[in-house]
Amino acid sequence: MIFMADAGDVERMQRIINRTRSYGIQVVEMPNWQSRGATWDRVPSYIIDHHDASTIKAGEWGSLGLIVSNNLSQFQVARCLDGVPKIAVCCAGRAGHAGLGGPLAGMPLNNANAYAYGAEKANNGLGEPYTDAANYATDGLFRACAIECGRDPAGFVYGHKEWAPLRKIDPVYSMQWRRGRVVAFQATGVEDDMDWSTRYTHRRTGYTTEFENWIGETNVAANAAAAIAARVEAKLDALAGKLSDDESVLLAAIRADAEETDVRALAEALAPLLPSDTDPTAFAEAVADALARRLAE
Ligand SMILES: [Zn+2]
Repeated sequence: MIFMADAGDVERMQRIINRTRSYGIQVVEMPNWQSRGATWDRVPSYIIDHHDASTIKAGEWGSLGLIVSNNLSQFQVARCLDGVPKIAVCCAGRAGHAGLGGPLAGMPLNNANAYAYGAEKANNGLGEPYTDAANYATDGLFRACAIECGRDPAGFVYGHKEWAPLRKIDPVYSMQWRRGRVVAFQATGVEDDMDWSTRYTHRRTGYTTEFENWIGETNVAANAAAAIAARVEAKLDALAGKLSDDESVLLAAIRADAEETDVRALAEALAPLLPSDTDPTAFAEAVADALARRLAE
């Protein structure tokens, strides 16, 4: 097994992205998705359906930053509170989402990650309703994956709770219901009541629609980068007094992603945090060069 997605994995994922977009679903491509995750060495035969147990206050994209930085699934479905169906693609290779369980269908005991894509969905799993747009995005994504993997959509989708019934409750809805929707899926778009999301956010969380928009799609990269930087803040204590602010941010991101660091991709993710006139690639390389020189002294 090669510890990086191969060309076939990337090409298949690109077809999934294209097909999902053709259904009217927005697809946000997370930096470096092409190389993240080990190569499959096979065409995935299933997708496992999850929720991320994020609180509603986590906003539109829930735990997306953690999912990317820890390579926890290939896909994240947004809450879609603005009525726009949207998903994020996190990696082309294998991801660690299923854990111990099975056997189930063609997935051998404790080895679903080698046979199944995983899709997390931003949802608290404690009764938070899914928006119509999130359900549409989920159905379309699952159908696109099945078709591009050459599989019958009817036998492609399993819930995490079906894989690991003694450990897991996600997702909380009936999997028969979800499978039926995926089989019956028509790319009609969402005929949602757009006011629904506004009423929902105001009543359930007290957040303004403006806040939900702010935390939404345009800030995905910033959210992911901020999550990466925050997670390793503690590791930098020893060096904290000796680094410039720029160096601290970039070094934190690099250390968080140490197994497969791609400075350029990280710089893209960090770009929203930088002054608007900064070229992220030049910035990243300049800081990396400066750090390398100083560490060598
Ligand atoms: Zn799960």
